[in-house]
Amino acid sequence: MAEYDFDLFVIGAGSGGVRAARLAAMSGAKVAVAEEYRVGGTCVIRGCVPKKFMVYASEVTSQLKTAKGYGWTIPEAQFDWKGFLHDKDVEIARLSGIYVTNLQKAGAHLLHGRAQIVDAHTVEVLPKEGSKDAGRYTARKILIATGGRPWKPDFPGAEFGVTSDEAFHLPTLPKRVLVVGGGYIAVEFASIFNGLGVQTTLLYRGANILRGFDDDVRMHLAEELEKRGIKVVLGCDHKSIEKTDDGLLSTLSNDLTFETDAVMFATGRDPYVEGLGLDKVGVKLNERGAIVVDEQSRTTAENIWAVGDVTDRINLTPVAIREGAAFAQTEFYDTPTSFDHDMVASAVFSQPPVGTVGMTEAEARHAFGKVDIYRSVFRPMKLTFYGGQERCLIKLVVKQDDQKVVGVHMVGPDSPEIIQMAAIAVKMGVTKPQWDSTCAVHPTLAEELVTMREKYRPSEMATV
Ligand code: NDP
Repeated sequence: MAEYDFDLFVIGAGSGGVRAARLAAMSGAKVAVAEEYRVGGTCVIRGCVPKKFMVYASEVTSQLKTAKGYGWTIPEAQFDWKGFLHDKDVEIARLSGIYVTNLQKAGAHLLHGRAQIVDAHTVEVLPKEGSKDAGRYTARKILIATGGRPWKPDFPGAEFGVTSDEAFHLPTLPKRVLVVGGGYIAVEFASIFNGLGVQTTLLYRGANILRGFDDDVRMHLAEELEKRGIKVVLGCDHKSIEKTDDGLLSTLSNDLTFETDAVMFATGRDPYVEGLGLDKVGVKLNERGAIVVDEQSRTTAENIWAVGDVTDRINLTPVAIREGAAFAQTEFYDTPTSFDHDMVASAVFSQPPVGTVGMTEAEARHAFGKVDIYRSVFRPMKLTFYGGQERCLIKLVVKQDDQKVVGVHMVGPDSPEIIQMAAIAVKMGVTKPQWDSTCAVHPTLAEELVTMREKYRPSEMATV
């Protein structure tokens, strides 16, 4: 009889967990995956994928504007929120089904229910309505891939606000919304609501949105969001929210009040470790409540690993996938692998969107002292045709001594698509002369990336 029920027990069927489970199962290992909600995790069920559908839906407003600019006569457009939500949920169910099928095809065993670690080799799956999977299972190795949960601040009336989880299912589209926060989710949802015709205010406590991004990107995006009709309120926080006859009344730290129909908190996400029983098995958490892991995703407990947002390294789907794959390579294919977290590109699907890879100007100046900055702000030709005022930003950060391109930052149409290609060159260590030797593709917006020759700022200076 086998020593354990499974070679690997994965807790959480999101991006990281599913990739690890499939790869491990394909090696011939006996694998179980427990999921308390729906297979696919945050990305598929209530994150990247439904968000992108909402981005597509909301971008139509500016596409209609462009169409008019190019001579089309368009009757007044109507948006059907309920119909859209229905179709989005059908597509999400289809994608979740593909995840289930892929797990099954790989030979992994899916268990429906919430899992708790009992000891270093035992996991208990708790009873769940409609599932017969409850029970104790033993495993040679345990992988935690439970992701994160939205977090909202605690102040009088905060309970009236929703998070992104609920924003994907609002029964009606509000007429006025206040989005709180200045990170990825806040700017993305503010853009979505604005695009769908909702009167949108973005409230952020700091000096400018997207803390941690390049300062030029932050300034440029805040201006562009305002140009598109979003009211951006900076340096101010909530005191309270009250329910009124007409909606929700937010009182801010500067005593300004805002009446809206909905308040959405996009104030960060916490690693989802609640109820996993980690203290019993010696899995250490850091000060943010995330599971501490080494470069091969080993926790502080023997034979327990963790990948993805629950470890709070870089909280992005492709990173969780690569961490899950590296774990499987190491533990089930005898190929020690660790994912390199350096130069990971990312995109913010705001409108206009942001694409970024590598260091900000401030980080590069801090690290290297002298850096060359190339920067271009311009109206894309698609817009100049009809007098559109939106501008793009393209910026290169170059280390002066060896001319390595250490950062590329973009705000403008298709930035997420373009940055994916730029990331290859940057990851390979491209220099500015090599970058410049690349011939432009004309006429495109992206050609500006390879045609910037004039330094924008002196190499030595304080960061703006
Ligand atoms: P972020 O950490 O990006 O942003 C959280 C925001 O909330 C910050 O602006 C923060 O302000 C603010 N905040 C925190 N606490 C409070 C408070 N008490 N009161 C008011 N404001 C507060 O988190 P998100 O929720 O936007 O996204 C979570 C993660 O998910 C991201 O970090 C990203 O990794 C991932 N993600 C990626 C996406 C993509 O790839 N396109 C899309 C969506 C999410 P401050 O800056 O001052 O701390």
